[in-house]
Amino acid sequence: MLLRLQRYDYQIVYRPGKDMVLPDSLSRLPKHGSDKPIDLNVKVCFVQFSSSKLAELRGATASDDELMLLTSYIVNGFPEKQRDVPTEIRKYWPYRDELSIENGVVIKGEQLLIPSVLRSQYLETIHEGHHGITRCQARARSCVFWPGISRDIENMVTQCQASQPKEPLEPITPNVPSHPWHTLGIDLFTLDNRNYLIIADYHSKYPVVHQLGTDSTRKTIAHITSNTFALFGVPNTIISDNGGQFVGQAFQELLKSYGVTHITSSPLHPKSHGFIERMIRTVKAIIRKTPKDTDSAMLAFRTTPLGPQLPSPAETLFGRKLQTTLPAYNRLANNEKLSVYCMSGQEQSKSHYDEHSKELPELALNQPVFYQDVCRKTWSPGTVIGAGPEPRSYTIVCDDTGRTLRRNRVLLRPRRVSFTEPQPTAASLSGMPGDKTFPEPPPVLDTQASTPTPDPPDADGSNATPQAVRRSSRQPVKRLIEQI
Ligand SMILES: [Zn+2]
Repeated sequence: MLLRLQRYDYQIVYRPGKDMVLPDSLSRLPKHGSDKPIDLNVKVCFVQFSSSKLAELRGATASDDELMLLTSYIVNGFPEKQRDVPTEIRKYWPYRDELSIENGVVIKGEQLLIPSVLRSQYLETIHEGHHGITRCQARARSCVFWPGISRDIENMVTQCQASQPKEPLEPITPNVPSHPWHTLGIDLFTLDNRNYLIIADYHSKYPVVHQLGTDSTRKTIAHITSNTFALFGVPNTIISDNGGQFVGQAFQELLKSYGVTHITSSPLHPKSHGFIERMIRTVKAIIRKTPKDTDSAMLAFRTTPLGPQLPSPAETLFGRKLQTTLPAYNRLANNEKLSVYCMSGQEQSKSHYDEHSKELPELALNQPVFYQDVCRKTWSPGTVIGAGPEPRSYTIVCDDTGRTLRRNRVLLRPRRVSFTEPQPTAASLSGMPGDKTFPEPPPVLDTQASTPTPDPPDADGSNATPQAVRRSSRQPVKRLIEQI
């Protein structure tokens, strides 16, 4: 061994056995052929959640008959055949290998299984900040689960009036920096007579928002920026418009002292400042929707994954999940992996953009919709009663006032009434040919009637879960490695 080590320049350091976790545990493994029992006292603590919430979850799990039955199967093992499992817990069969129990709570992969009494409460928490279906589902997928959760989220969001305005598209930036907090965008905006300063990271999309008091002088802006650098670190580059606060002496001196490169966007090419403008739109929407609890809505935005394969802005920036009002696994993030995710996310968001810029699906006769009040930017419920004569134009009747309005398709959004009530389909249209109000339904309605809303999901929510199974099926192995 000494001969082999000769070609290395090495240094020997003494470390007590208790610090040599891996060799120490391996040396305690039983020898082949020895049946001497080994003492193991392993406590794994993964759940990151306030203790009162955890106690509530534990209590609700203990009083849920279905989960108690499931628990007994997790402890004693599932039978070989699916038909030997009691029907009420058969829906958990596809996930049987991912289920475990920790601290009296059932866990599926990295998600906590929520008992039915608490589900509506958790749905509301998931929907904090009124994000869209995909974002809410992504947020849920990162921490909680129950059979049919995706369908429940979809129903809640489509029925929520505040969630109707179209969410701003994901920021698309041509040159995304390769790591977080490298390039920042900075800008000012006004909402309801209040001024705000926003500083957002191009890589992680993490926004820092400061409400400015009466004093929004150049010195204040420079001071807040300096404070932000002190909290999150100094960036390489900062991009702003040519506003006086940013080209003024105080701000310029600050950047010079920290060695930050300043890029100003040309007034003739406002698109070069597009990232921060989209970010402002998103933040404004959050503040507008939740004026009383902006902080928790902003926390929800920062901790919601940006897509099915993308981590949340906070996770990308800090390399860990932040504790929120939803439970989360305190898993150390792999920054390299996140970085790859973020880069691929740019391509994803570009293709998303292309998807969203396609024509909106046609609406059917009698289809429940939300229509937008163009001045007040609010959405109210109505029903389609006719189409045309102009293309993409519909006549609707307002559910509350009974007024008849004509609206372009972009100002209408399909509305789901409840998931037990069937949506209008081609069949229901053809079933009412004699309707006096619509002697001749416009031809366009016949071809598209079934497209506006997705098919009602299966009763067991099976269409909502396959992705979750794929995502977390390898997790137990990974957690084990991290523990060692
Ligand atoms: Zn909502």
